[in-house]
Amino acid sequence: MKKTVRRAAVLYALVAVFLAGVILLTAQFIIKGSSWANNKANRHIYSSGVVTNAGTIYDTNGRVLAESKNGKRVFADSAAIRKAVLHAVGDTSGVISTGTHNLYRSNLSGFNLFNGIYNLKKTGTGNSITLNLDSGACRAAYEALGKYNGTVVVCNYKTGALLVSVSKPSYDVNDVPDDLRTNEKYDGVFLDKACSGIYTPGSIMKIVTAVCAIENIPDIYSRTFECEGEYETGDGVVVCNGTHGKVSFQQAMNQSCNCAFAEISIELGAAKLRATAESLGFNKQLYAKEVPLVKSRFNPSASSKTELGWAGIGQSTTYVNPIHFLAIMNAIANGGTGYAPDRIKQMGAITEFMGRMPETLVRMNPDTAAQLKQLLRSNVTDKYGESKFPNLVMCGKTGTAELDDAPSHSVFAGFSSRDDLPLCVVVIAENAGWGSGVAANTANSVLQYFLDNN
Ligand SMILES: [Zn+2]
Repeated sequence: MKKTVRRAAVLYALVAVFLAGVILLTAQFIIKGSSWANNKANRHIYSSGVVTNAGTIYDTNGRVLAESKNGKRVFADSAAIRKAVLHAVGDTSGVISTGTHNLYRSNLSGFNLFNGIYNLKKTGTGNSITLNLDSGACRAAYEALGKYNGTVVVCNYKTGALLVSVSKPSYDVNDVPDDLRTNEKYDGVFLDKACSGIYTPGSIMKIVTAVCAIENIPDIYSRTFECEGEYETGDGVVVCNGTHGKVSFQQAMNQSCNCAFAEISIELGAAKLRATAESLGFNKQLYAKEVPLVKSRFNPSASSKTELGWAGIGQSTTYVNPIHFLAIMNAIANGGTGYAPDRIKQMGAITEFMGRMPETLVRMNPDTAAQLKQLLRSNVTDKYGESKFPNLVMCGKTGTAELDDAPSHSVFAGFSSRDDLPLCVVVIAENAGWGSGVAANTANSVLQYFLDNN
């Protein structure tokens, strides 16, 4: 009897070890199956570390941006479009790490837990992905930047669809320049500046400071500020772009008066400004759906009033990520709910049937959003002029981001307030000077494209 019990115990122990092994293997398979299948040694997908067989990538209108033909990856038929969508589509080696080829490779390979990459082996192609990008609009944005590098992003603020995502410099994947890695004109070419770039924002940061002012200074609209061209902070000077005389809060926004906004920033103090910025997503790791964004940074000085003043007007140590700032504009345009800009329209059977659910990335008090919308609208009607943005009923703010050792970045953030054109736009044209120049004109060109093609 004792012997039987002992044998049973040994048997149970063996069964337990076996079960533990099965559980471990299953867990490993679930966790790592996708990366095993998508490992670069898998010759069904990769040849010499390069994606060869994978699903087709379409733009929102069904235009092919990348597909596999006879074991080779083939890209869009227009060189201008190949350059304009390079960073969003990505290269086949995955050097552009946030490109669709790299970020969504398990979807493109058609991998799933039950079949592995069965579809790919059977048909030679994986699952297709349809992007929200409008490749024609991307091309218009790329061309509007002219000779300047930088980024242009456009989002439908009612749905979160990311319609334009352009990063420059770029290159043609069908005709890779020999000096791509050596010529300084291609510096940063493998970086998608829309999601992986951060920039000194200049005066578009006054939008964030205005949010803080509206929520913390009850009589902000009845205040007046004196601008004599520079503001004495007590421990230094903040210089203005003009001499604006006596201005209201709204006029200070319209004129982009540094004196008024430095004074407001110093009155609010570093703690409140930082709290507002962080409530809008600064100093946090954010994701636009699956796409990681480089952190926007706002760390206003608590010890230097002058540094605090500069931080509140988008200089000093303030940096913004373009897609993050686009989500802030989405919140203002969309009554406080700022959807995460989403590059993907359809991916897999479920989204083909149901669509992709929008995700809120930035939340703002709806009253504050409404007041910001009115302020940004008055910038266009009272300062930039409607003729700069014909038929767009535009709201926006220019920025001229001053740099220590190079010409300023030209920056624009805004949106059309037309019900039939619910689009937000952020443009950064590197070293292109005033925000009212290249950046504002590029924003207009891209939104005009949608007006003409919708
Ligand atoms: Zn001023």
